[in-house]
Amino acid sequence: MERPSSLAAGRLLIALLLLLVLARPVQAQEANETYTVAAGDTLGAIAAQLGVSLDALTLANAIDDPNRIRVGQVLLVPNADGALPVAALAAATTTGRVRAKAGDTLATLATRYELDPALLAELNNAPISRRLFPGQPVNVPENVLPPPSINFGAITAFDASATIMQGRTGRVYVTSSRPLEVIGRWLGQPLVFTALDDDGLRQAALIPVDPLLEPGEYALELGYTTARGVDLLRTWPVTVESGPYEYQDIVISQDKADVLTPDVVVAERERVIGIWSQISPDLWWRDVFQRPISVDYPTTSPFGTRRTYSVADVGNFHAGQDFGAPEGTLILAPAPGIVVLAEPLAVRGNAVMLDHGRGVFSGYWHMSEIKATPGLQVAAGDVLGLVGTTGLSTGAHLHWELRINGVAVDPMQFTEEPPFVTP
Ligand SMILES: [Zn+2]
Repeated sequence: MERPSSLAAGRLLIALLLLLVLARPVQAQEANETYTVAAGDTLGAIAAQLGVSLDALTLANAIDDPNRIRVGQVLLVPNADGALPVAALAAATTTGRVRAKAGDTLATLATRYELDPALLAELNNAPISRRLFPGQPVNVPENVLPPPSINFGAITAFDASATIMQGRTGRVYVTSSRPLEVIGRWLGQPLVFTALDDDGLRQAALIPVDPLLEPGEYALELGYTTARGVDLLRTWPVTVESGPYEYQDIVISQDKADVLTPDVVVAERERVIGIWSQISPDLWWRDVFQRPISVDYPTTSPFGTRRTYSVADVGNFHAGQDFGAPEGTLILAPAPGIVVLAEPLAVRGNAVMLDHGRGVFSGYWHMSEIKATPGLQVAAGDVLGLVGTTGLSTGAHLHWELRINGVAVDPMQFTEEPPFVTP
């Protein structure tokens, strides 16, 4: 979003003031910041009395016709330079509240609601750089609040992540007046909605962001098909922020590289994509992920690192989280799911994949031994296999991968957050 020029910002302020002044009486008044028109006043006399120019007073209050002021009208008093003191603006502003989203600061809210940052800072008695926690109430001018009803047919409320970091996962929550098959699209891909309550009136979807997606603003499309068969759709902007990812070269020994012909790599990729493209009807994963390996084994290579490999086309970033551990260390399921793959692969080595439902899959690669069989239902903490260094690996470790709608995202996010927050 372009930052408005100071002239445009000034016009915005004036329009805001006009609304405020005309729409409702001003409660808070402080000396020299506002002036209430008395019987017999003229604008010229008021300007002279306050020591400001008639032009500045007219402009500051967006007055079209200086001969038409009314008794009781509250005028904002500009500074000597014609600008309005922020404290006066804040005092004259009737406020409502919005709630901060993850990653918000007062500055990001000022951008979202097209507010003067100084005014927003004043309204909240805090610096504009103040970081906010998700859900924290923030004072904003009442007239920037969305109307109570979003006037979106059967969708009565929604809430989507305003910003998502590369490689992380956002959410969108939708409330409807009747059960709906909600349509969501993100980067041309359909979102997968899950009901959060028994009556199906509250649904949510995960919004996975590829770690290599260019930072910027993208449209989240949301809606449903009406009873008449018409798609009712709207879009909202979601900002993708760059992640803290580093660069790394991976050198693979010649004996391992020799088996990784392009045919083998492509066939394996098609095999795993074929699995993680499925969408099971239920989401079994509801709680924060347990770690898939003991805390004794810290991360040795984080998710998202940009990589170049010394062998054929096996990807250009690290699609999972690595934990270095001795061969034979237990690998555990982080959440309930169904084993959908348990077999040796050329690149991924001895591999296990879990389906957690609704297009969410987790993968465990390079095992020395597989301890699960396809079709097995697992609970969090169940053993899936043992750490090894099979496949394209340079030492014993667990590679843990999370795929949401086929997109590799940071699994560690969900060791701290559940997939969805339920009220
Ligand atoms: Zn890895």
